[in-house]
Amino acid sequence: MSKILVIEDEDLIRDNIVELLEAEDFEVFNAENGKIGVQLAFEHQPDLILCDVMMPELDGYGVLTALQKNPTTATIPFIFLTAKADLVDLRKAMQQGADDYITKPCTATELLKSIVIRLEKHATLKARYSKELKLAESKLNQLIYQDSTTNLPNRLSLLEYFQEIRHQFSSLSVNDENWQQNGMIPILCLGVDRFSRINDILGYEGGDLLLKAVAERLRNSLPSGNIITHLNGDQFAVLLKPILEKKQIQIVIEGLKKAISDPFVLTNREVLITLSAGIALYPQDGQDIQQLLRGAKQAMNEVKLQGGNHYSFYTHTSENELSERIDLEVALRYALERDEFQLYYQPQVSLKTGNIVGAEALLRWKHPQKGMISPMKFIPIAEENGLIEPIGEWVLHQACQDSKGWRSQGLGNLRVAVNLSGRQFQKPNLRQKLVQILLSTGCEPDYLELELTESLLIRDAELSIQQLQSLKALGLTIAIDDFGTGYSSLNYLQKFPFDVLKIDQCFVRNLHTNKINAAITKSLILMAHLLNLKVIAEGVETYPELEILNEFECDEIQGYLFSRPLNLEDFQALVKSGS
Ligand code: C2E
Ligand code: MG
Ligand code: MG
Repeated sequence: MSKILVIEDEDLIRDNIVELLEAEDFEVFNAENGKIGVQLAFEHQPDLILCDVMMPELDGYGVLTALQKNPTTATIPFIFLTAKADLVDLRKAMQQGADDYITKPCTATELLKSIVIRLEKHATLKARYSKELKLAESKLNQLIYQDSTTNLPNRLSLLEYFQEIRHQFSSLSVNDENWQQNGMIPILCLGVDRFSRINDILGYEGGDLLLKAVAERLRNSLPSGNIITHLNGDQFAVLLKPILEKKQIQIVIEGLKKAISDPFVLTNREVLITLSAGIALYPQDGQDIQQLLRGAKQAMNEVKLQGGNHYSFYTHTSENELSERIDLEVALRYALERDEFQLYYQPQVSLKTGNIVGAEALLRWKHPQKGMISPMKFIPIAEENGLIEPIGEWVLHQACQDSKGWRSQGLGNLRVAVNLSGRQFQKPNLRQKLVQILLSTGCEPDYLELELTESLLIRDAELSIQQLQSLKALGLTIAIDDFGTGYSSLNYLQKFPFDVLKIDQCFVRNLHTNKINAAITKSLILMAHLLNLKVIAEGVETYPELEILNEFECDEIQGYLFSRPLNLEDFQALVKSGS
C-alpha cells in the first residue's frame, strides 16, 4: 500500500482528499500546516506528498526546501495543490523541483491520475537506482573485505568473524560453568620480523610476493575453524576458536612457526623469516575487537623490541604509563580555566573552483611544561572522564564565533566544521546547547558542520537517527568523519540523515600507486553521489593524489598539500591572500 502525506490548512479540503485517497486504498497521513507536514514526512517517509502552497507556519515552498535538504526525503515525489493558478507560480514551483502542480478545485479523476503517474515513475526510478546502488555496494564490499596482495580477508572482515566466534562462545557458556569461568577467545597479532629490511632487499614487488607466500603457508597450517586475516603491510591477525586452556594457543603458534621455518624461494633467492606474535584474550583483555587488536599489537611490538621470533601475552598498562596518564588528567582539568586551548583551522578546498570553502576546527592543547599535546592523546582521556563536555562546548563556541568573524570581515562565506565526540553527541541537551551557541555568537546554522564518526552513530542507531534529525532541523549540516575505518557499509549508513562523507586518509594515501585504494575511493565517491552526498577527501598530501581525486570528481579536499592546520591569524591571512 502506498503512503501519501497530505499537507493542507483548510480542514474541509483536507478531509475530502483524505477520504478520497483512503477509498482508493492509500495509507494517508495529514498535516494542517507546513511545519507539521515536514515532521510527518521525516517520520513516515511517504511515497508521495500533496501539499498546499499558502499555509500558516511554513508555506509549500518552504516545505519543499526543507525536504530537499534531507537526503531521506529529498526524492519523494511532490505535488503542489493550490488555488493560486498563474503561470509565474507554476514556473516557480517546477523550478524548485516539484513534480506536478494541480489547481483547486480539481476533479477526483484529475487528482488520482496525477498521483498514479508520479508513483509509477518514481517506482521505476527507484528500481533502477537501487540496482545501481547494489552493484556499487557489492563491488565496494569485495574491495573492502579482501586484501589483494595476500588474497586473505582483511581487517574489516575481522569484526564480522569476531561476532560469529563470540556467538559460538556464548552458546558454549550458557549452561556450562567451566566455560563461563575458564573460556576465552584468543586474538593473535603476527608480524614478520624486520620486514622493512626484506623489502629493501627484494623491492616492493618481491616483498609482496613474500607476503603472499607467507599468507598461504599460515592459512594452510591453521586448524579449521580458526581465521586468519591480513591487517596491513607485514601484519596478520589470527582469531582462534573459543578454548579452555592457554596451552592450545601455544600449539597453534608452534604450528605457524613450523609452517614458515623452511626458506621461501623468491626470484632465485632464498629468504628465511621469523615471526613475532602478541596475544590478547576475550573477555579479560577487552570486549570489542578494536580494543583486543590494540592489546595484541602492543604485545607483539614488545616482542619485536626484544629481538622478535617469539610470542607474548598482552599485559595491562605499565605503571609508568599509568602515572603519566594521571598527571595529564589533572592538568587537563585546569586547561580550560587557564586558557591553554586553541583552535587551529585546516582549509577545505573545492575542486571545482579551487577556492577555500570552509575549514575544519582542530583542537590544540598547549601544556605549560610539555608543550603541544596531540588531540589524539588527550581527547580519549577527556572522553573517559567527561571533561570533553565543557571542552567540546568551548570548541563549538569558539568555532562559531570565528566563523561569524570571517563573514563580518568580508573573508567570504566560509563554513566551519567541528568534531563532535561520542559523549557530546549522546547528550539529550546537545540541541539546546547548540541553539544557545548559535544565538550568542550570531553564527548562522548554515555555516556550521558537525563531524561525527560512523562507529559513534551505529552504537545506538535509532537514537542516533533521532538526534541527527533534531540537529538537522536547526539547519546545520552533518558530516561522517574518517569514513571507511569504522567497519560499516555505506548502504547501512544511508539510514542516517547526513550530508557529507569524509573519506579517511588511509584510502587517499598513494592513490596513484595503490590500485586498491584507488578502486575503493572511486566506488565510494560514486556511491556517495548516488546518495546525494558531498565528498571530502582527507589527508591529501601529494599532487598525484589530488589529480586522481579530481578525475574521480571528488567535491572537496583537505590536507597538507594545500595547507596544514593553521592558527586563526595565519588561516585568515591565507584566506585574504586568496592563494
Ligand atoms: P580528524 O577529525 O580526522 O582530523 C584530521 C586529522 O588529520 C588532523 O589531526 C589533521 O591535522 C590531520 N591531517 C590533515 N591533513 C593531513 C595530511 O595531509 N596528512 C596527514 N598525515 N594528516 C593530516 P589532528 O589535528 O591531530 O586531530 C586528530 C583527531 O583528533 C581528529 O581527527 C579528531 O578526531 C580529533 N579532534 C581534533 N579536534 C577535536 C575537537 O575539537 N573535538 C573532538 N571531539 N575531537 C577532535
Ligand atoms: Mg574531523
Ligand atoms: Mg577525519
